[in-house]
Amino acid sequence: MTQTTCMASLATPVLFLGHGSPMNAISNNAFTSKLAELAAQFIKPKAICCISAHWQTRGVYILENARPKTLHDFLGFPAELYQVEYNAPGSPEWAQETSMLLAEHDPSLTEQWGLDHGTWSILRHMFPKADVPVFQMSLDLSRSIKDHLELARELKALRKKGVWIVGSGNIVHNLGRLDWGNTRRGHEWAHVFDDYVRQALEEDAPDRLVNFRQCGIEAKWSVPTLDHYLPLIYLLGLREPSDTLSFPYHGFEFGSISMRAVLLQ
Ligand code: ZN
Repeated sequence: MTQTTCMASLATPVLFLGHGSPMNAISNNAFTSKLAELAAQFIKPKAICCISAHWQTRGVYILENARPKTLHDFLGFPAELYQVEYNAPGSPEWAQETSMLLAEHDPSLTEQWGLDHGTWSILRHMFPKADVPVFQMSLDLSRSIKDHLELARELKALRKKGVWIVGSGNIVHNLGRLDWGNTRRGHEWAHVFDDYVRQALEEDAPDRLVNFRQCGIEAKWSVPTLDHYLPLIYLLGLREPSDTLSFPYHGFEFGSISMRAVLLQ
């Protein structure tokens, strides 16, 4: 069953977005148009909690800056990209509330980060006025995938209060197997793994996504490191039986990056 027919959830949407190349931040293409369209279809959130592939820590950290800086956390891109500033306010209040929700997992509030490109490269298209408060939660790489699923479940209360939770990564993300001449198509193995994930989501089979390596060599090539895959696990943990699942965007960049977006609403 791909969609439920129950009464629509009162909770806010949950998104997983494949962010792809940092260049998407300053591009206008089918993907960035879809981001703008997505944001416009919902009531503006009270705040956004972004779980980005690019904030990797030991221990769970939550960004509590009132004015988070824009991090240009990439090398070798055009000067124009380094000049982008995304001046959304932070949200110390929601950061503190998130910290309380996760109390059993010993989180730390911090000002020692900002908005990394996993966050601002997509939000720039969704909320170009930067008028929604944004805070980030880090990916604690010392935890197992199941631990991340548990953490995500604790965040359900935020959803009910009008905060969007956005995971930003990529289902397939292998920079060592990029094909620069192949801008909009995926390698065959990348399609196999992307399809595996799509089907597990449609069939609401989180165990197949926690144990994704059972997919085979395609999983190994698609997820050489966990950082871009883990944000998807947060969507699984936040899923409610009343949610409708959809894929607002799918496609590939440079052979080995899946741009699939997943929406729960
Ligand atoms: Zn990335």
